Amino acid sequence: RESEKADIALIGLAVMGQNLILNMNDRGFVVCAYNRTVEKVDKFLSNEAKGTKVIGAKSLEDMVKKLKKPRKVMMLVKAGSAVDDFIEKLIPLLEKGDIIIDGGNSEYNDSIRRSQYLEKKGLLFVGSGVSGGEDGARYGPSLMPGGSEQAWPHIKDIFQSICARVDQEPCCDWVGEQGAGHFVKMVHNGIEYGDMQLICEAYDLLKSSLGMPSDEIGKVFEKWNKTELDSFLMEITAEILQFRDSKGEILVEKIRDKAGQKGTGKWTGITALDCGVPLTLIAEAVFARCLSSLKDERVEASKQLHGPNNNYTGDKGAFIEDVRKALYASKIISYAQGFMLMRQVAKDQNWRLNMGGIALMWRGGCIIRSVFLGDIKRAFDSNPNLQNLILDDFFKDALHACQSSWRKVVSTAAILGIPTPAFSTALAFFDGYRNSRLPANLIQAQRDYFGAHTYELLSTPGQFIHTNWTGHG
Ligand code: NAP
Repeated sequence: RESEKADIALIGLAVMGQNLILNMNDRGFVVCAYNRTVEKVDKFLSNEAKGTKVIGAKSLEDMVKKLKKPRKVMMLVKAGSAVDDFIEKLIPLLEKGDIIIDGGNSEYNDSIRRSQYLEKKGLLFVGSGVSGGEDGARYGPSLMPGGSEQAWPHIKDIFQSICARVDQEPCCDWVGEQGAGHFVKMVHNGIEYGDMQLICEAYDLLKSSLGMPSDEIGKVFEKWNKTELDSFLMEITAEILQFRDSKGEILVEKIRDKAGQKGTGKWTGITALDCGVPLTLIAEAVFARCLSSLKDERVEASKQLHGPNNNYTGDKGAFIEDVRKALYASKIISYAQGFMLMRQVAKDQNWRLNMGGIALMWRGGCIIRSVFLGDIKRAFDSNPNLQNLILDDFFKDALHACQSSWRKVVSTAAILGIPTPAFSTALAFFDGYRNSRLPANLIQAQRDYFGAHTYELLSTPGQFIHTNWTGHG
């Protein structure tokens, strides 16, 4: 009988899949578990899922028979060919209107391709960003579903029951068409790179210019976490900076300064370059990781290249507050750039992206969760067609209030020789964006001089002309 069947199937019993199943079970849904290596199904049922309502399947055929219609099959498997392999195996087993959900970290162009492919076969596809790691999956992730919109009413109840909540509101909503869910997840990860870099620059400024020990900086960050900067990343950084190892020594100072990356920041930057959006802060954050990874080269260069003395001799307390304001202002720019990218890609792809909804989805459950995202949500609620986040009154006022501190920090860092690529690029963006006249007139003249690329006159936009700059033939 239909009522005795499972609400959803979940393929992929690694940590994310197992935790999502247990989360769904806690919320009263019956889940049918399956995994390529089938032995893991029994193992899961007799261990982690013991005593739950979770059922198992020994084959995909068996799994499909155990599902209520329209069937919902969610995959939490390794991104890439594993997803395509399962899709091929599922197609002959499913019926028109059934739903395949990919909850892995898939590249959004793959999700665009898969949604078009499955829709042609009469099936519905959902590519969902899942953020918050293992703990999020178990107790409330941020979920960013996009794809075939007809699927949403069928999965909404499950998704909005298992996700994180902030002030009773679920951190999950329909994002948009095709690959929109995975695209937004990618931008989330890019913003995460930016946030982390900004916090690292603040730490470096306090450490290098004021000579503050890590645990003292940790205490300062604890205080910052009670201001506009209240966020998960600020909170964990304050803890990290005060964490002592078994010898009673601060651990973070013993960690090799060579940052790793898995590529989502890079992909966000590549997407921005492809569609011409000045996503400078996230790009700098990715490059900062690249520069850090040249550790051996830097050690060698440090013996040969010299800079100024790092010591700041002014008022310590005032400078700490300046750094806090510079961090806040730079963060506003980073998010404004992230939303500019989403706006542009939505336009190029003809997606109706729900901007306020995206801010809400990131408000809880994910790595970039913060109070700040509530302010972004409010900005889009009051004006859904907001051209740019920094033109919203709240953020405009915030930037104006932080501006002099921000300039002081960036210029002080330059004078003291402390690298602040993200703080600096954010300020350069602000100054570029607020300027009605940039030196691009000269670029146009140069391009026309050497390549006859033509230019427009201020007085006659739309008319492209060429000048013979040398006067020769
Ligand atoms: P994972 O290590 O990325 O993947 C393991 C799962 O994929 C296993 O069920 C494995 O089956 C299956 N698999 C791998 N290659 C396969 C293939 N060629 N054909 C069929 N199945 C294959 O697991 P995970 O860490 O739980 O992550 C699952 C997905 O969620 C990934 O896309 C990941 O990027 C994403 N994600 C992870 C996190 C996190 O914090 N870990 C957070 C958000 C999103 P077998 O048991 O048979 O090998």
